[in-house]
Amino acid sequence: MQRFEYRQARMGVETRLVVYAPDEARAVAACRAAYHRISELEAKMSDYRPDSELMRLCQRAVKRWVRVSRELFYVLWRAQKLAAQTVGAFDITLGPLVLLWREARRTKQLPDEATLNEVKARVGWQKLELSLRRRAARLAIADMRLDLGGIAKGYACDEALRTLKRFGIRCALVQMGGDLVTGEPPPEQPGWRIEVPGLDGQVRTLWLYRRALATSGSTEQYVEIGGKRYAHLIDPRTGLGLTRLTLARVQAPDGITADSLATAACIMGAEGIDQLKRFYPHATIEVQTRD
Ligand code: ADP
Ligand code: MG
Repeated sequence: MQRFEYRQARMGVETRLVVYAPDEARAVAACRAAYHRISELEAKMSDYRPDSELMRLCQRAVKRWVRVSRELFYVLWRAQKLAAQTVGAFDITLGPLVLLWREARRTKQLPDEATLNEVKARVGWQKLELSLRRRAARLAIADMRLDLGGIAKGYACDEALRTLKRFGIRCALVQMGGDLVTGEPPPEQPGWRIEVPGLDGQVRTLWLYRRALATSGSTEQYVEIGGKRYAHLIDPRTGLGLTRLTLARVQAPDGITADSLATAACIMGAEGIDQLKRFYPHATIEVQTRD
């Protein structure tokens, strides 16, 4: 078995595949298929592409049921389950607030109160309805915008790992930015060696296999306004980015769980850990915050 590693940009982040395969031809074929699978999901779930299935859904599903692909439905379903469990701390309908945040990042100005209130009125997880029977979604009002930025990468990692498995590759690691999933450990290793730095700068080493790890936090993407840092993680209660320094790290059996819980844990803070653990007993959740 030989080690092969590839890096390509997908879903706006560096996507790394590390596989052990008997020969290069097998590694190349499997990894090409895995990247292709991620591209397919990106075409369904991106909010940067006006023609993605998700963005078309936002246009078409106003007050009427629109049937969606299996993959998109599963991600929407998991997102809505987590929204209910966190009483809306995790909320994929906050797309309009994400646009406001991106504008604030450009202009270095916070939205005024009237704008913020107008935009908040178009947000709320209960305004997105799903029907399992129809495999369809419906939006309560016009001009809503769904944003899967806190969950789609984890799912894409899972799907890439499944694709590799179909090509006979079990010993693999898939990493997309702060999300990663692992298959079987490398030959003669106790797992995949992963270094995780904390807020305090201390680095720990983890050995993972058949497990996912997601890191989410306010330390990388933020806009500084009036001496405060507003992160790209949005608190649905205020409509604004988190201002406290936060780092959440979640281990879970799969990427979609780890990714979405890490985003949720950032919003909920350390006080939310017990609540999340009740619903996800197989997850390990850590949150560090500093004001
Ligand atoms: P990253 O995508 O930077 O790795 P996350 O997985 O934590 O980090 O996702 C952050 C993204 O999740 C944001 O860019 C935004 O698209 C979305 N998001 C922000 N706040 C929330 C929230 N409260 N609930 C669900 N999704 C959110
Ligand atoms: Mg996330």
